[in-house]
Amino acid sequence: MPWRKSWTDPSTTTLEEVERRAYQVWISEIMLQQTRVATVIDYWNRWMERWPTIQDLAAAEQDEVLSAWRGLGYYSRATRIHDAAKIVCKDSSMKGLLPTDVGELVAKVPGVGRYTAGAISAIVFGRAAPMVDGNVLRVLSRQLGVFGDVKADKAIIELLWAAADSLVKAIAGDDPEDEDDIDHNTTTEKEEEKEAAPSNRPGRWGQALMELGSTICTPKPNCAVCPITSSCRAYDEGIRSASKRGFISKPTVSSNTTLDIEDACILCKPFEEYAEEDDDNEQGTKTEEGPKQQKPKSRTQTTLRSFAFTQVTSKRKITPGPEPPPSPALSSAALEAVVNYARKFPLKTVKKAVREEETLVCAIRRSDGRYLIHKRPEKGLLAGLWELPSYIVKDPQGGSAKTRKRDAEKFVQGLISESVKARKRKTVVKHVDELGSVPWLFSHLKLTMHVHLFEFVDEGEDSDEDRLKEDGRTRSRWSDVEALDAESMGTGMRKCWALVKEAD
Ligand code: SF4
Repeated sequence: MPWRKSWTDPSTTTLEEVERRAYQVWISEIMLQQTRVATVIDYWNRWMERWPTIQDLAAAEQDEVLSAWRGLGYYSRATRIHDAAKIVCKDSSMKGLLPTDVGELVAKVPGVGRYTAGAISAIVFGRAAPMVDGNVLRVLSRQLGVFGDVKADKAIIELLWAAADSLVKAIAGDDPEDEDDIDHNTTTEKEEEKEAAPSNRPGRWGQALMELGSTICTPKPNCAVCPITSSCRAYDEGIRSASKRGFISKPTVSSNTTLDIEDACILCKPFEEYAEEDDDNEQGTKTEEGPKQQKPKSRTQTTLRSFAFTQVTSKRKITPGPEPPPSPALSSAALEAVVNYARKFPLKTVKKAVREEETLVCAIRRSDGRYLIHKRPEKGLLAGLWELPSYIVKDPQGGSAKTRKRDAEKFVQGLISESVKARKRKTVVKHVDELGSVPWLFSHLKLTMHVHLFEFVDEGEDSDEDRLKEDGRTRSRWSDVEALDAESMGTGMRKCWALVKEAD
C-alpha cells in the first residue's frame, strides 16, 4: 500500500512534509471507504501524480476531480474532498495543514468523520486516537464477546469505540523502549489521563487491528492462525461450547463459569447457541467426533466480569512478554466448531430490500454529430456528473418495449421543445431504436437503464450562448463524441454511452 510509510515525528520534520503526509493519508482513507484496497492503489498513485499537494488539489477544476474519481463510486466523496481541500488551504488557521486533533478535524474538514479523523491523527501525528472501521468493530465484538448490531445499535457502537479508545491510549503509553514504563496496576487516575507523547505506536496499532480484521478475523475467521486467541472471548466461549458438544474431550481453556443473574449483559441480544452453528457448517458434513445432538439453547451474553481476562489481579508490571502461546491443538472438527461459534459475532443484521428503479436513457444525436448531455444536481446520487438525458420510469414492472418507446419519445419531445421553441426553429426528432438495457447496482438501488437513440434535425445551429443552459438545478450542452468520451460520467452511464457509440 503506497500510502503506508514509516512514521516521522512531525516535530522533527518540515512543515511541507507533514502537510503532504497528512494529505496522503487523508486521500487514502477517503478512497478506502467502500472500495477495496487493490482497486484504490492505482487510483491513489494516479491522484498523487496529478495533485501531489493539497494546494494542487484545491486549484483543480471540479470536472477534473470527478473524472479522476471515475470508477471508484460514491462520487460525493470526490466533491467533498475537493471542497475540503479548498477550505483547508484558505483557512487562516490551517493554511493547508490538516488539524492534528480528532475533534478539530471533524469540525473543520467536510467529509471527515471520526474514523478518518482518528486515522489522520494517529498515523500522521502519532496521537492516541482510535480508528474504528467495520473490520475493527468485528474484531472487538469478538474479542469482548459483545453480541449486538455493530452497524445500527448506537450503544454497541459507542461501547466498541470506547474500548478502542482505551486500547490505543494504553498502547500509546506502554512503550517497551521507555525505561519509565507505567505499571498499569498501580497508576493513579491523573497519570492515566496524561496524554502519551506522540509516537508511531497508535498508528501501527490501529492499522494492525484493521489488518487483522481484513485478513484473519474476517466474517469467517481463521482462528487457527490468529495471534490474539488468548484474549478473545468469542474464541474462549467457542472452545467451551465445542467442549460441551463433545468436539473436545478435555477443555483446553477454562473461564469462570459461575454466573448469576446480575452478570447478564443488558446490551447484548440473546442468541441460539447451537442451531445456527450447525446451519453455518458450509460443507454440511458431520464428523465422527460430533456434534452431540443437543437442542438449540437461547441465552444472553454475560458481562465482561464473567470473562477470565478481566480477572487478572496480580500486581505485575505490564511489559512485553514472550510470544503468546500457540492456539491449543484442536482437531479440524473442533476448530470448525470454534470458528462457527466466533463467526456469530457480531449480530447479523437483516439487510434492507434494495429499491428497484428503471430509467430511459435517451441519446439525442444532432445532425452535426453532437449529443445532448445534462449535468446532475450538485447533491445526491452521482452528484455533479454528466449523463445522457434520463427519465425515471413511473411504473417499472409493467413496462413493455412499446410503452418505453412511447415514454422516451414524449420525454425527448419535451426536452427539445423546451430548448428550441423560443427560437421558433423547425426541428424533427426521430426515434431510431432501443439499443439495449444496462443493469447497475448501487448499495441502496438496483437500476436498469434502457438506452434509446434519437436523431434530431435542427434547421439552425446553436450559438455559443445556447450551448450552455442554466436552469438553476441542471446544466445541459451539446457535446461531440470525443468531448463526451472525456466527460466525467458514472461507470453505469459510461456503459450506456458505449452502446450508443457502437450504434453510431
Ligand atoms: S481468535 Fe478468532 S474470533 Fe478471536 S480475534 Fe482471533 S480470529 Fe477473531
